[in-house]
Amino acid sequence: MGKRVITIDGPSGAGKSTISRILAHHLGYTYLDTGAMYRAVALKTLRFHLDLRNETELRALLSNLNLSFKGNKDGFHIFLDGKDVTHEIRTPEIGMQASYISSNAVVRETLWRIQRQIGEEGNVILEGRDMGTVVFPDAEVKFFLVASPEVRALRRHRELLEQGKSIEWQEVFEDVIKRDVNDTKRDLSPLRPAEDAIIIDSTQMSIEEVKNTMLKILKERMLRA
Ligand code: C5P
Repeated sequence: MGKRVITIDGPSGAGKSTISRILAHHLGYTYLDTGAMYRAVALKTLRFHLDLRNETELRALLSNLNLSFKGNKDGFHIFLDGKDVTHEIRTPEIGMQASYISSNAVVRETLWRIQRQIGEEGNVILEGRDMGTVVFPDAEVKFFLVASPEVRALRRHRELLEQGKSIEWQEVFEDVIKRDVNDTKRDLSPLRPAEDAIIIDSTQMSIEEVKNTMLKILKERMLRA
């Protein structure tokens, strides 16, 4: 069996991260949360009050970008310049900034390079919005996870409350809608399923059901390969 690449794409809050973590653990694969990479860059641009229109400054910031990752059964950790920023990047403000900077070509190309390097090592689950369409068009299995905006906002809201953040559901819902518009309307890597992606609608499904559905598909595909 070759070195496999599985991609899991879809809009914000569809449950990509949770399911990617679970599947990676189950299969003993590496897991890469590419949204966290955009969020880490977003954090850095906010820290430096960077004006994205200033390409010289942006290139300088990206050429000094030091991102590293650590995954274990409890989850995925991302380090920016040596510091664990996994929790710090999970705010609606960073989410919006990530969505904003992700339409920038220089930012995307920088992160694509890192993503391809990790993917080429094989036996990896890459989670994001353009993994199956742009970064790994030849991935063996591509999933595209969707759910209604209301349910996605509910899940995000619950997550934020669990982290001790006080925020109204309505605000989270508006964020989800705003980010969907940003992510689907942009020219570069707009959010859409790859032609050969398997679409899974998790609106009415528990995480256990999503996991079992995906594992069944993976088993069939991998046996065939
Ligand atoms: O998945 P998450 O909400 O953490 O992603 C934050 C933002 O990063 C998204 O709204 C999207 O604009 C951007 N992103 C992207 N391409 C990816 C992953 C995330 O453009 N592969």
